Amino acid sequence: MSPPLLPQAWGTVMAIQANYYLVQVDQSSGSPLLCTRRARLKKMGQKVMVGDRVGLEEIDLVANQAAIASVEPRKTELSRPPVANAEQILLVFSLVEPPLEVWQLSRFLVKAESTALTLRLCLNKADLLTDAEIESWQARLGHWGYSPITVSTLTQSGLSLLQDQLRHKITLLAGPSGVGKSSLINLLVPDRTQRVKQVSGKLQKGRHTTRHVELFALPTGGLIADTPGFNQPDLDLLPEEVIHCFPEARPQLEQGTCYFKDCLHRGEPHCVISSDWERYEHYLTFLAEALEQQQYRSSLHSEDTGMKLKIGEAGERSYEPKLESKKYRRQSRRTKHQHLHSFYNDHDFKNRSQGSDSENHD
Ligand code: GDP
Ligand code: ZN
Repeated sequence: MSPPLLPQAWGTVMAIQANYYLVQVDQSSGSPLLCTRRARLKKMGQKVMVGDRVGLEEIDLVANQAAIASVEPRKTELSRPPVANAEQILLVFSLVEPPLEVWQLSRFLVKAESTALTLRLCLNKADLLTDAEIESWQARLGHWGYSPITVSTLTQSGLSLLQDQLRHKITLLAGPSGVGKSSLINLLVPDRTQRVKQVSGKLQKGRHTTRHVELFALPTGGLIADTPGFNQPDLDLLPEEVIHCFPEARPQLEQGTCYFKDCLHRGEPHCVISSDWERYEHYLTFLAEALEQQQYRSSLHSEDTGMKLKIGEAGERSYEPKLESKKYRRQSRRTKHQHLHSFYNDHDFKNRSQGSDSENHD
């Protein structure tokens, strides 16, 4: 007797290993199906990513297998980590043990702001602080433009508030190590260990060899991606994009325009950005980093020709002779960052600022 066949169904790709995809079928509480991708999709060059909404054919519920026949257009797409349709980033930091490091937090926030995703900030280990200390942190971060949720995975305080924020969304979890990300995800996805074993078994390999992100279904609704192991995100922003990643500076930008069209807001005459905000110093530092990266990119463009790429005010490109060749050898920062996992690429910023000619600068 041939196995029962269902009509076409839809599902979400939860994990990928080599040419196999684990797909959770909509409205099904059963375990995910092990799927292959139709040759036709491969020929079309249609990539399948974790988080993709896919149409399934040849569903075989006895063997728990199916074939991916179509991929829905993506709402968002990140390349590092490779995830489709994520809607928000949950940044987890701890207030103590390890103590909250404002520069590190700021860097994570700026990186997350540069994506098109909604940013949620969660401060863990609230049990180790007094109410007054927590309130003082909340006030400080309020000036940065954020209203973090404080939680404790130990006492489970704040957990239901956090669960409300995660409902019906695809969320990426990020943050430095030691802040309680694993503890949090274990609380949010109680059957995670079992799920990991199931997934690893299906994909024939251990979890650590699963190169890509993995999504977990939250019992309260929604999906969360475990994205372990990164400490210092590479900002990878264009200099003019940096200011937009500081929510506390955005109202100033909306109040008027700077005298210089290409103003970088570091003390130029008649600039709308003041210097009397806590993170102005962070802004200047991240801006300097972006300028250095831009210079490095320009040097790459001109390496073969001995010419330097010059980008004019209107975005037009021209080349001029490279004079200080030594300067362009200064690639240390970029090379240093290459081994780090850079979670979100600037593609996502571009999604948001589509139509701006900043896209031409790469
Ligand atoms: P990760 O590296 O971000 O995944 O952090 P872990 O989940 O491994 O947690 C790091 C350490 O912090 C562990 O010793 C946890 O027991 C501890 N921890 C996690 N959450 C809390 C919390 O809410 N309160 C306290 N006091 N300790 C916590
Ligand atoms: Zn300015």
